[in-house]
Amino acid sequence: MYPEDANQPRWTASMMARYQRQMVLPQVGIEGQQRLLASRVLIVGAGALGSAAATYLAAAGVGTLGLIDGDTVDISNLHRQILHDESHIGVLKTRSGAQRLRALNPDVHIEEHPEFLSADNIIRLFSDYDLIVNGSDNFPTRYLVNDASVLLHKPLVDAAILKFERQLAVFLPGLGCYRCLFPSPPPPGTVPDCAEAGILGAVAGVLGSMQAVEALKLLVGIVPSQQGNLLLYDALSSSWHRMSFERNPDCQICGDRPTITELIDYEDFCGSRGPSTTTQTGPMNLSEFAMDTDQAAGLLKDPTVAGVDVRSPEEFRQGHIPGTQQCSMENLDKWVGNNTTHRILVICASGVRSAYAAQYLRSCGYEAWTLVGGTNAWNNTGKPWVQLESRAPEF
Ligand SMILES: [Zn+2]
Repeated sequence: MYPEDANQPRWTASMMARYQRQMVLPQVGIEGQQRLLASRVLIVGAGALGSAAATYLAAAGVGTLGLIDGDTVDISNLHRQILHDESHIGVLKTRSGAQRLRALNPDVHIEEHPEFLSADNIIRLFSDYDLIVNGSDNFPTRYLVNDASVLLHKPLVDAAILKFERQLAVFLPGLGCYRCLFPSPPPPGTVPDCAEAGILGAVAGVLGSMQAVEALKLLVGIVPSQQGNLLLYDALSSSWHRMSFERNPDCQICGDRPTITELIDYEDFCGSRGPSTTTQTGPMNLSEFAMDTDQAAGLLKDPTVAGVDVRSPEEFRQGHIPGTQQCSMENLDKWVGNNTTHRILVICASGVRSAYAAQYLRSCGYEAWTLVGGTNAWNNTGKPWVQLESRAPEF
């Protein structure tokens, strides 16, 4: 009744009992479960995203899970990195995570890689796996993981978390990559990291769980969409925004004439060497597309520039910058299709959503900018503000 292939894991009665609820799904079945048990998945980072993703992948019976992380467990990790607990403070995250996952499901073989990912070790580490789940928390690693996945033709389930705003994308070989959407990183200082911006642990769990869902779909053989989708999750408004994307023929690494054919210096590429490059409190190193409030006010006086506020209609109604229009992220494509302007200042609450949106618009050929710090920074300066409702946002 069950496959007896020597390469397949041996079925046991406890396996049948353990996986029965997911094998009942017609998209999984015994064949899909066999595929999962024979799969090798590498998780980059045993942090907040990696904790949720690894837990569900191990529980689902992915045969081999690799964990890469050179860090040790700190008490400040515990509110969101649920692979670890207080007894593991000071222990390598890979060891702590492996112990938890082995206890959860002894069918799963856990491979520990207690090292920091770099251009020197990534090819060796990625080569052994079928699929990469990226839970890294900085831009140099994000580009490094993307480029190595493209060069090795590995599917990549990518996610990023920042404050209340999250994004998730699945990049399949030949169907576009992170660089197709974001050819260059945001300027240092324009997107605060997790320690500076703060993070709600449960929200990271939502994204990590979504990564596990997308990885499981690919592994059991559910045919993926031939068009890429970038999902943005806004926890404050409890909404998901979907933006479709295609491979960019001009992409530096997966385009028709790639200029990146081997790994590069990613710290240098992201401008993140040296101190104070990601601080919000020091002077910001703004590039040409990141506008501070004075620059944004000047831009908005230019009649060829449209101010587009990507916050939700509810947030916009509560207050907005005079002369700006509301357009949610999922409607951006439609908005630019219906408007002749090619010069757009994108605005959101904190400058995170707008940084992504501006980069996305730039990748589509528009001249787009982001307001650093968003409407929060604008209001701190006492600049003009249209207030229609005084109701506080709910969360
Ligand atoms: Zn690309």
